[in-house]
Amino acid sequence: MDVVNRVVRHPQPGETIHGLSTTYHPGGKGANQAVAAALAGGDIALFGAVGEDGFGVELKRTLTENGVDASSVAVKPGTSGIAFITVDDTADNSIILSAGANGQLGAADVDRMLPGLLAAHSVLLQNEIPWPVTREVMEQAHGNGVRVIFNPAPAFLLPEDAYRWIDLLVLNESEAELLTGIAVADGAAAELAADRLLERGAAAVVLTLGERGSLYKAQGMAIGVATSSYRVRAVDTTAAGDTFIGALASATAKGMPIAEGLAFASAAAAIAVTRAGAQESIPTLEEIEAFMS
Ligand code: ATP
Repeated sequence: MDVVNRVVRHPQPGETIHGLSTTYHPGGKGANQAVAAALAGGDIALFGAVGEDGFGVELKRTLTENGVDASSVAVKPGTSGIAFITVDDTADNSIILSAGANGQLGAADVDRMLPGLLAAHSVLLQNEIPWPVTREVMEQAHGNGVRVIFNPAPAFLLPEDAYRWIDLLVLNESEAELLTGIAVADGAAAELAADRLLERGAAAVVLTLGERGSLYKAQGMAIGVATSSYRVRAVDTTAAGDTFIGALASATAKGMPIAEGLAFASAAAAIAVTRAGAQESIPTLEEIEAFMS
């Protein structure tokens, strides 16, 4: 749950100030991507955990309302994962991420989740649950022929031996730079960064490059597929990446060829940037199709 406090200025340590407003926004990368995939027409279940607090009830309700099967989201003692976001008058923000229930996922949860995961076409993972859980799911899913899509956000240096389980690695510019050391300032640099990631063993890579679009490259390709972004009036780019990834996962799982899937994902993300908010800005399949026609 994103708890957003608007303030005139950030408080100093030890200081109490009056806030301007507080709003609650269901979020989390896993939830946002699941909602994006479901609204784009996918048959989606989310595996994860919420806490015993009221946020947990609200988070599961919102998922269900958006067409995501939340029946495998466990309820753990303690709080749900919460992002405490403070935004000042100059739009500078500070964020405290409290993992809550997400941080409690462990080996027993993997055992519980595996039958459902292995029945899926694809599994889409982020980096907001403990790495040993992610790693185990990746290995099991890949080994059993389930397509593994990984968006390691927030970014961290992936262990080299994990790349071989990744069928599609999706990174934004800062994540790509952290993993490869290459600033993807132009097309040539993006190709180079993609090559580095493919050399480590990922089967394919998508680099999302904000309004510069995206680059897809798979093993054996001499040149990647560059997809332009749609020209729109950007209002709020929050969740552009989550919308793109969810829509791409959903479309390609339903058999859409990758080049079309990238254009579809790019349209979904373009709509999201024209709207304020995160999860609430994610478009439906009808909206994406209307936008593209
Ligand atoms: P965020 O963290 O804001 O959710 P991100 O950094 O993970 O986003 P980006 O690379 O910024 O991801 O954006 C993902 C995709 O969304 C891009 O590849 C592009 O297709 C689309 N997109 C992003 N910004 C814009 C924009 N200003 N106009 C049109 N499309 C955009």
